[in-house]
Amino acid sequence: MNPTSALDTSKRLFEEARQYIPGGVNSPVRAFRSVGGDPVFFQRALGAYLYDADNKAYIDLINSWGPAILGHTHPVAVDAVKQALQQGFSFGAPTEREIDMAKIIVEATPSIDLVRMVNSGTEATMSAIRLARGYTGRSKFIKFAGCYHGHGDSFLIAAGSGAMTFGVPNSPGVTPGTAQDTLIATFNDLPGLEELVAANQGEIAAIIIEPVTGNMGVVLPEPGFLEGLRALCDDQGILLIFDEVMTGFRLGYGSAQQLLGITPDLTCLGKIIGGGMPVGAYGGRREIMENVSPSGPVYQAGTLSGNPVAMAAGYATLNYLRTHPEVYTRIEATSAALADIFTSELTAKGIPHGVQRMGSMLTLFFKEGPIRNYDEALECDTEAFARFFHHLLGHGVYLPPSQFEAMFVSLAVGDTELNKIQETCRAF
Ligand code: PLP
Repeated sequence: MNPTSALDTSKRLFEEARQYIPGGVNSPVRAFRSVGGDPVFFQRALGAYLYDADNKAYIDLINSWGPAILGHTHPVAVDAVKQALQQGFSFGAPTEREIDMAKIIVEATPSIDLVRMVNSGTEATMSAIRLARGYTGRSKFIKFAGCYHGHGDSFLIAAGSGAMTFGVPNSPGVTPGTAQDTLIATFNDLPGLEELVAANQGEIAAIIIEPVTGNMGVVLPEPGFLEGLRALCDDQGILLIFDEVMTGFRLGYGSAQQLLGITPDLTCLGKIIGGGMPVGAYGGRREIMENVSPSGPVYQAGTLSGNPVAMAAGYATLNYLRTHPEVYTRIEATSAALADIFTSELTAKGIPHGVQRMGSMLTLFFKEGPIRNYDEALECDTEAFARFFHHLLGHGVYLPPSQFEAMFVSLAVGDTELNKIQETCRAF
């Protein structure tokens, strides 16, 4: 029996949702299409746990796809939101909270002198690409196959038939005209990237990358890859954009860029900086960011940008991380223990797999590693993953419902949860 079929209330809610919402969900991965079965509807969350519509508890290894690094409904964020709400929740005019937020991001991130708040990661990446184009006067940009940068038209592009071809839209509604300015490279392949840049000399505004990927599962940059990418950008006058929507403030308080020792020209942020509220941001060197309106000609705006309640939740979360550096030590240890559990239990069963991890982001691939790029990730046994996923779900452990996603570990996960996960894996 598919364990999710027992979840009667979720089933009923999903049926009802499909009458009013495309596919019954407001973001596609939530629909469980790549693992089969019906999604679980949740009603509340606390610490390490989510509670479904029937009040069944699940250990959460997604944490809202990253934001809930402190665990769900952490008192620090809840108190900040309550206080902000009482003061009014949308002014469409500047507030001091926005300065606090900008300051804490700038002080944590040496590559960022100025930062603009937006409402999602998608807005951050779209705006960063527009800025890079405006700043350089060039039209094309390069992204890497398997990296996801939100649902902006110019990011929904698949690789063409060869490295030298233009990209092709991978969603109806994206025009060939848009696709032709997006070039696709292979993660961890510096020679291929150099070739692509050489073939488009003087035309590339930016290269955008997840410095440690989460969206094809966790794939780490090989030694020298990001260094080579940085040098290539410097040499060719190309802006290097780190999309740290997932990795920002997750891999460390200085984000992936500090951990890896690479300085991007622009950085995109989201998830953790909103503390669970809809927030994104992009920032970088003053000389580049001063091109953003109203200080410069590159237009970008937002009715709800810098929303006071969202700023309160985000600032409280970032300030907690700033003042409690032990959070990172703790989630590193928990994540290492979780990786060991997966490795030892699946090895004992002779199931081919590989765990790839950096800090509190990890993916259990159903294929022996290392996985270095998207093509290699696609070779995983997705059916084995789906069986594993449903086994854990049925026993109250909530994994991302796709082989090609990262798990995000929160501060709230402790020995009780790790022991339960181990027992569940053993029973697989
Ligand atoms: N960039 C990365 C690396 C992401 O992982 C995501 C979303 O998961 C985005 C951008 C888009 O962010 P949002 O879903 O907030 O628009």
